[in-house]
Amino acid sequence: MFRSIKAPIGFIVSMSLLVIVVTVLLFAASESKRLYQDNIKTQSDFFSETIAQLIFPLVNEGTWDNVPIENALSTLSYRENLIAVRIYSPDYSRVVQLNGRESERLQESFFQELDPKNVPVGVVDDCQIVVTHYPIGSPAFVRGYVQVYTDVRAPVGSNFFSLVFYVFSPVFIVFVITLIVCLLAVNKLLKPLGALSAFTKQVTQAKDYTLRHKYTKRDEIGGLTHNINRLLETIEVELLINQEQNQALMDQQEIMTRLANYDSLTGLPNRQFVFDSMKLELARAKRNGDDVALLFFDLDGFKGINDSLGHETGDLILVEVASRVSMLLREGDLVARLGGDEFLVVPDRESNDASLHNLATRLIHAFAEPFELRGLSLTVGVSAGIAKAKDAEYDLSELMSNADLAMYRSKAKGRGSYTVFTPDMVESHKRKLHLANAIEKGLANNEFSVYYQIKINQRGQVIGMEALLRWNHPEYGMVMPSEFIPIAEQGGRISSITHWIINKVCQDLPELKQWVGRKFRVSVNLSVHDLRNSNLFDNIYAIFKRHDTNPEYMEFEVTETAYLENFANSNKFFKRLSNMGCAIALDDFGTGYSSLSYLTQISIDTLKIDKQFVREIEQSERSRLVTGSIIDLAKRLSLQVCAEGIENEAQWEYLSEHGCDSVQGFLFSKPVPIDDLMSVPLCFPRRVLDMDFLGV
Ligand code: C2E
Ligand code: MG
Ligand code: MG
Repeated sequence: MFRSIKAPIGFIVSMSLLVIVVTVLLFAASESKRLYQDNIKTQSDFFSETIAQLIFPLVNEGTWDNVPIENALSTLSYRENLIAVRIYSPDYSRVVQLNGRESERLQESFFQELDPKNVPVGVVDDCQIVVTHYPIGSPAFVRGYVQVYTDVRAPVGSNFFSLVFYVFSPVFIVFVITLIVCLLAVNKLLKPLGALSAFTKQVTQAKDYTLRHKYTKRDEIGGLTHNINRLLETIEVELLINQEQNQALMDQQEIMTRLANYDSLTGLPNRQFVFDSMKLELARAKRNGDDVALLFFDLDGFKGINDSLGHETGDLILVEVASRVSMLLREGDLVARLGGDEFLVVPDRESNDASLHNLATRLIHAFAEPFELRGLSLTVGVSAGIAKAKDAEYDLSELMSNADLAMYRSKAKGRGSYTVFTPDMVESHKRKLHLANAIEKGLANNEFSVYYQIKINQRGQVIGMEALLRWNHPEYGMVMPSEFIPIAEQGGRISSITHWIINKVCQDLPELKQWVGRKFRVSVNLSVHDLRNSNLFDNIYAIFKRHDTNPEYMEFEVTETAYLENFANSNKFFKRLSNMGCAIALDDFGTGYSSLSYLTQISIDTLKIDKQFVREIEQSERSRLVTGSIIDLAKRLSLQVCAEGIENEAQWEYLSEHGCDSVQGFLFSKPVPIDDLMSVPLCFPRRVLDMDFLGV
């Protein structure tokens, strides 16, 4: 009802004052009435006595004459408030009556009903009339009686009104002044309460619980202030505890977010993070019809580094890779580690084809510099694949799989390159999957066959042949090893193939021996994955044993990359093969590692010059220099040199003139099945050509 406590207090004070004032007024009025009545009564007594004395001489002689009495009284009739004066004889038989100014106040019947002897004396008739009864003469000798009737109602009434009139105004003024003083006092008393209320409002609005209210008096408000201050102290302490707990929670949440979203080794965002952000980015791009690109890359030969130099070195390389790649990127590009040696770069939204190519090129170049780690200088290349969201219809897993496909294309092309995904790669991927799954069945169903390609010496005689695998697939027809060998390697099926071909060559060996008729060697290719198989030597030994194969008829070819990737194991393995009588050839020499220092440490018999140098002998001075140097190097190291890919007489002539021990190529024979091999000549006479153009 009241908005402020001051109002009810003011109301109570004013009502109390009013009640006091009214009570005082009423009491004063009643007291005044009583006093006034007493006063009139006294006056009436005195008046009666005066009349008695005035009348006494007129009735003293014992005569009773009304006329002189009436005359004596007549002068009194104007007395104020006088109703009547009655003079009685001693026996109350005679009466003289004087009517006063207020005579009409009484009916004549009043006197008729009245017993003059026993008239009530004092204030009678309901406080309206004062009656006095006074003897004339001495009490011992009474000559008559005087009765005076005086009106009290009218004078008392007018007295009350004048009392009210004269008393009310000052009382009212006093009332108002007292009220104002009381209200001011209340206001003053309540002022600290108002200040306290304003203070609590300030705290609520500012939410500043460090504020304290100052009020030093030891009254109720002081107690309240103290309690509020203590309440604020408690809130402040609780808030502090709360804030600390919140901070701890936030720190914990940050750590958990970091753990969940960032790679602990490199500090880069992890798969989870990049996938979450890519989902949002793809949804946005789809809405706006934009394209988003991904660059996916992994390190070439990282597994080999891990295996040969240990995981600690591998980790150091990954950290170094992360920092090299981060430095390449512009603001807005994102790089993440997906796991192992796989990384992902999400270029800025604004990137176009040119900037993507630029990024990929810079990335590959950034890895040209070797990593200097623990005193080692390691060159690690990258293979990258680029895919775009539109090609994957904005589906994240399809986009990732496209980038992955493109990256594997780069690996197949030759490492240290990048490939942009095109939709036809999906088809080829399906084909790859299909082939990978069909290898075991193909081996069991005899879909594979061995083709032999002869090798001849400087005199043109067949000195051996390379066993090259072919797959006559029921659906795809003839599938070449350059396609299915990498698939078999990735799918972990290369061991079965190697096992199968060695077995087959051992089976064919008697027939081949019969055909050649003198000492020769059959070469079998081994892959990098074969060298990781610790049972390989035992398996070969078992096959030789089974077929009673003389190891001196066998040669194994391995690429320098495969050899060096698992250097220690390869060295051990080839030494054992060598000790058994097998020959070892380093295939595709010149395409892999640039350092030649390892050549003195490995156990091989032959260097095979890669066909890419042979092909360009006629046109490229550089290729001539490389082949010449390889032959020279081999001679110094007492190694045999074999050149592959000879397609014309000039190439053969050039290589023979430079001291190449043996050659292999379409010039002599393409790889053919064993049956066709029998019709291949065993000797190729070399024509002497004019080699001036080659500077021979
Ligand atoms: P490679 O060991 O260097 O074999 C030589 C490749 O050069 C063969 O290709 C052969 O057909 C080809 N070649 C030989 N002379 C010429 C020529 O004059 N001109 C041209 N253009 N090419 C010539 P192929 O048979 O397609 O084999 C490709 C590769 O597949 C081989 O290269 C080898 O690394 C791998 N491979 C073949 N069979 C096997 C196998 O049984 N096991 C393993 N691990 N790899 C194999
Ligand atoms: Mg080979
Ligand atoms: Mg080769």
